[in-house]
Amino acid sequence: MSKPLIRPLFSACLLSCLFAPVHALPTKVSFTPAEHTEIGNQVKLRYSPTDQGEVGQPLPLKNGLQLTYGEILSFGDFYGLVDEPISLGHTEEIRRKRFIDAFNTLAENLHATTEAPQILRLIRQERKIIDTAISSGTSIDKAYKDLGNTIDIQFNCITGGGCSELTWLVNFGRYMKLAASNYDHFGEEAILAYQTGHQIAMEVAMAAHHNKDVNQLKLAYAMNAFACHFLTDRFAAGHIRTPRLKLSENTTLKIIGSALTSYMHTEENHYGLHVSNAHGDHWVAFGDKTYFKPETEKHRKMINQAVQASADHIFYAYLSGYNEIHDSAYVFIPRPDEENNHSKLDLSPMFYWDEASNTLYRRTSLPLRYSREWTNDWWGWTTFLELRNARGFEMFEQAILAHSSLGKAALKDGFITEPSLVAYVKQQAR
Ligand SMILES: [Zn+2]
Repeated sequence: MSKPLIRPLFSACLLSCLFAPVHALPTKVSFTPAEHTEIGNQVKLRYSPTDQGEVGQPLPLKNGLQLTYGEILSFGDFYGLVDEPISLGHTEEIRRKRFIDAFNTLAENLHATTEAPQILRLIRQERKIIDTAISSGTSIDKAYKDLGNTIDIQFNCITGGGCSELTWLVNFGRYMKLAASNYDHFGEEAILAYQTGHQIAMEVAMAAHHNKDVNQLKLAYAMNAFACHFLTDRFAAGHIRTPRLKLSENTTLKIIGSALTSYMHTEENHYGLHVSNAHGDHWVAFGDKTYFKPETEKHRKMINQAVQASADHIFYAYLSGYNEIHDSAYVFIPRPDEENNHSKLDLSPMFYWDEASNTLYRRTSLPLRYSREWTNDWWGWTTFLELRNARGFEMFEQAILAHSSLGKAALKDGFITEPSLVAYVKQQAR
């Protein structure tokens, strides 16, 4: 197979790139923090066999923070180890250590006690904006559009990065740094990250049984909520088929793989996907920023069932002291109908990884979204160029490029258009 290599970058920009219309797109996200919080706050937590379960009760963390299940679940985008995704640990031992260390950046780190409440304030603001849009009949899409990057800038600021339009893309806080290597939030990696955290939470729940310690059960729930961030991300349309990791591994420069991921993520999120699960449910999975829309009810129900099943699994381990039943959260995980090209309902995946031949395929025609032809003879670079010219270049991806060793060349060839990034790269070049 000819590998999807990229040509030497930026040596000679094609003429087309000089005249292409380029619009900077907003930064990419998975489910927004308010969506994640809502998902987690639907989960009923039980503490005794007769307990019917309650939602929204705070769980105490070691550093003194008291957070609800949903708040902890949403913090998967804010707390973690930069450049050390859980799923990319080569052994189970490493993955377990990464999960525990990531969780403890929230649960034990004293800095989190002042930082987390600031993040929560913003999440509540986001929620208020959505609620106002719903009650006033304004579209949720418009509400998010009007919001622009305002909240992301503040998240970046709170987590140690730049605080204004001019500085947030130049100075990444932890929030943006985690987003730059968010492999745990896509595809099979999301499932592996969830599995790792859920297993640890199960062990804590079993220990809580033997110690008859309800506080230890609360810790198990808190850890599981953190693990469920990755599980829930895996339900968003743009996170199901997009081969985030394979794109990074199979393009000569990870940066280009990341940019290509972003285009496919946006496309899949926009169109949605017909999916099914092992439980026998069939439905349409929608993308990020759609959780509160009335038309996504069935999708919402599937996500809620998965996270409830996961928490119930923890509870049964606490009751019995054993891990003897299967985690039924897995039966709700959506699998794309179009994966094997059986359904003609959805757009063709822009990229897919063929396990049997170890090949990363690309849709032959990028604009013909329903064309069922793929090729293994493609270049990362020219693919990027075509997509960038047709669809713009997300400002978050521009920032990643600007921070890389290619920043100067990318600026010269017109790939960096965000004024703050243009100034940044020029200054670096001096
Ligand atoms: Zn996420």
